[in-house]
Amino acid sequence: MLTAITKNGKKLCLGNDYKKERLLSLRSKEDFFCPICGEGVLLKLGDHRIFHFAHKSGGTCREFYDHETIYHLNGKRQLYQWLIKQNIPAILEYFDKEIQQRPDILFTFNGKKYALEYQCSPIPEEIFSKRTKTYIENEYIPLWIIASSHLQLKRRNIDTLSNFQYLFLRSSLQGTLFIPSYCPEKQHFHLVESITPFSIKNAFTQHSFYIPDRLEITGLLSPKPQKRIYMPEWKTEMDRIIQNMTRYSDQGKKRFLLEIYNNHLNPFLLPPEIGLPVPHSILIQTSPVIWQTYLYLDLLSNKNPGDLITMQEMKQHLNKRVNRHDVVIRHLPQLSHLNPLLAVIEYLLYLIDLGVLSKKGENCFQVKQKIWIPHSNREREENMIRFNQKHGSLCKIINEN
Ligand SMILES: [Zn+2]
Repeated sequence: MLTAITKNGKKLCLGNDYKKERLLSLRSKEDFFCPICGEGVLLKLGDHRIFHFAHKSGGTCREFYDHETIYHLNGKRQLYQWLIKQNIPAILEYFDKEIQQRPDILFTFNGKKYALEYQCSPIPEEIFSKRTKTYIENEYIPLWIIASSHLQLKRRNIDTLSNFQYLFLRSSLQGTLFIPSYCPEKQHFHLVESITPFSIKNAFTQHSFYIPDRLEITGLLSPKPQKRIYMPEWKTEMDRIIQNMTRYSDQGKKRFLLEIYNNHLNPFLLPPEIGLPVPHSILIQTSPVIWQTYLYLDLLSNKNPGDLITMQEMKQHLNKRVNRHDVVIRHLPQLSHLNPLLAVIEYLLYLIDLGVLSKKGENCFQVKQKIWIPHSNREREENMIRFNQKHGSLCKIINEN
């Protein structure tokens, strides 16, 4: 840890710049105590490690603090200094007695209280959620930053993200969703943006890197990514999902395929209108091609031009599919305010652009023309070419605002 108090109750924060000589002299005449448990702590001033405090022995909070790695100590110290340089009031290792939680850094910005947690080791999802919930309930805005060492780029623009990494997904003030990370070794922020999942774990992503001097707090809280996905690349992944599904079938996939066949559809001959990327499909863990097929079966296939799709129907459809586990909602503790129905609405808005639907009043859609289902590979390919010619090869990603 980086903060201790002296016998007189004065705080010594090693997040600030101290010369080693000054600390050596302080150490020779002062005793230091842990601000949380009150036990004596040692001031460590080695040449190879970052200066820090360590508990003497035993004690209740020893586990909590003394397993911090150099990586973590360095990271939170650099993040603290980054805030201080911007004249943002910040407290390192602030302990909130009332909620018994200790964010790495507490800071206030634009009148709001932020609890910054710089997470370098995996923690169970329940603990992450509980801490996040407690912060929100106590009027903190949680700002979880994952250590860059946990992020690894898989392919050029495709990442495999685990459930743990998804916990860090947060919303900018404008509503764009991203994962913030920081690397104290390379000394840069690393933002994973425009995350558009096409399966449970794989997603199209974009990455931005900033050295701390080139990024202000507003840039971290509200990055402005450019979202681009090429339709042919996206459709390749959608096709792959279907191929894998017929190859390795678990219960859920079997149910999906059975339902498709029962409705006289062929999974390999789905139209281009099914399986499109929409910004908030990230709230749904199930692949877009699957949840949009279910949506087609429930809301679109039996309707004729002129028929309506109401908000009530959309909600019923989603509830039914979630209850049956056909559609799985992603667990995103920092985005508990977002309703997955958003993805459904965005998809229907996309279908307006494609000429399938039109808007009818505030909460209602009207069918303009039925989605045409191809009956052979040739028909499907021709249909796909027409679709790309008409709508361009760049996926339309609806403005996330
Ligand atoms: Zn302690």
